Amino acid sequence: MGASETERRLRAALDGGATATSFWRAVPGDLGPAVDLEFVDGSPGFGDWLGRALADMRGRRYSELIPTGLHDRLPAYLQVLATGETAVFTFDRIGHEGVSATAEVRCVPLGEGQLFIALWDVTEREDRIREAERVRGQALVDRDLLAVALNASPDGFAIYRLVRGDDAQPPDLRVEFVNEVAAGPTGRAPDEWVGASVTEWFPEVESSGLLDVLLESIEDKAPRRVVISTQSASGWIGRFENVVTPFGPDLLVNEWWAADADTPEGIDAPTSVLTGTRQDPLTGLDNRGEFRRRLADWMAQEPTGAVIVVDIDNFGRLNDLVGSSRADAALAAFARALRALDPWLVLPARIGADSCAVVVPGDVDDATAELARAHSNRILRDVSEQLGLPPLSVSGGLRILEPGLSVDDVLRDCDTALRHSVREGGARLTVFRPEIRADLLADYLVGEDVRAGVARGDFLLAYQPVVGIENGAHVGDEALARWQHPDHGMLMPSRFIPIAEATGTIVRLGSWVLERAVADLAASRHTRTVGINVSAVQMLQSDLPAEVARVLERHRVEPGRLVIEITESAILPDSARLRDQLAELRQMGALVAIDDFGSGYSSIGYLDWIPVDIVKLDRAFLRGDLDRRRRNLVAATAQLVRSIGARSLAEGIETDEQWDVAREAGVDFGQGYMFGRATLPIRAVADEADRSA
Ligand code: C2E
Ligand code: CA
Ligand code: CA
Repeated sequence: MGASETERRLRAALDGGATATSFWRAVPGDLGPAVDLEFVDGSPGFGDWLGRALADMRGRRYSELIPTGLHDRLPAYLQVLATGETAVFTFDRIGHEGVSATAEVRCVPLGEGQLFIALWDVTEREDRIREAERVRGQALVDRDLLAVALNASPDGFAIYRLVRGDDAQPPDLRVEFVNEVAAGPTGRAPDEWVGASVTEWFPEVESSGLLDVLLESIEDKAPRRVVISTQSASGWIGRFENVVTPFGPDLLVNEWWAADADTPEGIDAPTSVLTGTRQDPLTGLDNRGEFRRRLADWMAQEPTGAVIVVDIDNFGRLNDLVGSSRADAALAAFARALRALDPWLVLPARIGADSCAVVVPGDVDDATAELARAHSNRILRDVSEQLGLPPLSVSGGLRILEPGLSVDDVLRDCDTALRHSVREGGARLTVFRPEIRADLLADYLVGEDVRAGVARGDFLLAYQPVVGIENGAHVGDEALARWQHPDHGMLMPSRFIPIAEATGTIVRLGSWVLERAVADLAASRHTRTVGINVSAVQMLQSDLPAEVARVLERHRVEPGRLVIEITESAILPDSARLRDQLAELRQMGALVAIDDFGSGYSSIGYLDWIPVDIVKLDRAFLRGDLDRRRRNLVAATAQLVRSIGARSLAEGIETDEQWDVAREAGVDFGQGYMFGRATLPIRAVADEADRSA
């Protein structure tokens, strides 16, 4: 390799923005191969990194200059000399001032026993990744989607609210929310910015041209994408790409990131990675750091294919349920199976507590993605069967690789797509699209709106009669939530319950439903029961039995008049806790109903150990062709329900034929349009008339 080529590579590395670069020569051992390195020269940054003068170091040995690197880095460098292949890895070290740091090293063989080593201080980047993982983990626990979506993001995020001006005052934008990344350079906490004017928050908003873009975007309700350059006194320096998305009449979301890739890609030598302790001990797969390195190499050589990050659904709860050693065994078995899919899926790695990543080579489209999901799920099904665990499922996020993406970009997008899958109920794979992030945000805003709606008193309960199947006598009611929204009119539950569940606001709404339903019972002159729907999220996040006891007592209502309906699909996650709560509710005398039985991945088995009083057979039982087989099925199910000491209820009875089938099958209760639709109580209707008058 000629001197000019060496020079070119040196320059490339220096221009790549390395913190410290150095140049070394092999010190051959007695038997031939190199045993040490001799320092030839380095950049001033390298001297700073070691805290020594360069002149002192010239001609001295690595083993003497950097004794802390004797056991890991030096052997790695010697291997580069031996193989002639570039190595890239990161290491942690305590700096000369006692400050710990993470460095990324790129070691390039220059031929003739010469080595070039470039170091980047990636402490912040690694901290950011760790922090993002921590925030994400925490946020998943309290299901604070905003924190998940925004604080875990390496991008800056701000939400502004438009304050319309008058003749004297131009319109202004006020900070409603900024994430930690956004507030970072300003030296102030995100909360301190809430309420500030956008010009205070970002003094260059006007001169950079961003303000016009923001105002235009909110004016014509269309998103914008712009790159701005700034030297702001608040701390943003450089070129930033901004995406601006308007929400509703006066909210605006601004997301930005550095327009230039921050990871140096300067050296074009062929790259490979070191082997060594870069594997996760439990699964034997590569760990996160190793995956990042391999992916970087993959992307440098072959920017095709896709990355999938998969996460076992409810793994934390599985841990609680069966103990960590069995849960670990499941993970290890999953990992083994994943590895066996090579070459169909390559570079499998464990990148989080319960998440793995793989690369799908070749051209990836929706069909391939679907296949990958099906594969993962089949593996998990086998694994859970082998280990005698409840059926496991996996959620995934897929990012199709494109030129120009960094490893950080890819992993972030996988993560966003994965969160989307989880939010949609899990057991699915989402292919990343930029709109997904906006979806998460929109959900957050609707979730906030639910909260506000509860406070404003927007919600109403409609009641649908429950009848005895024999004679159609009215024996109870089911309370169904309705949202009288100030802007959107009357909304049905499908429009707000899933979002309220995903954002956690269901807890507040659920409390309101309980209070309202029991208050209505107390005010009634009849002695019928009333059923309320309770989401699993609500059960898991609050102490429902205690709350029910308090509310019943305050209104002096018999516990036996309240039915708690819990949907079947809620039973799998955290079964143990759920079972305890349901048992407690029954103990105080309330009734427990399983809702939508037969609609989910139905398992008759759990009826055995979940304490229930009523099983509500899903509408699907009576839909379609009610032939002999179907009638037998309904009868057998009713029989089964009776055998566990519970009573059955057929949902969705709309016709005489359906009623007959339910009656002949020996079902106990019925519900459906045939007996009455859900109606608002007269009081609510009168209130409504008042409102609109
Ligand atoms: P669900 O608990 O299965 O409630 C029955 C749904 O079926 C109701 O829809 C009801 O209006 C509808 N329905 C009743 N009879 C018939 C029939 O004969 N034919 C047809 N086609 N439909 C019938 P709705 O009110 O839209 O509620 C939908 C779901 O929203 C409920 O399903 C329940 O899962 C959820 N939900 C409603 N209120 C609440 C609440 O306060 N809290 C929670 N967590 N979920 C709620
Ligand atoms: Ca129900
Ligand atoms: Ca139902």
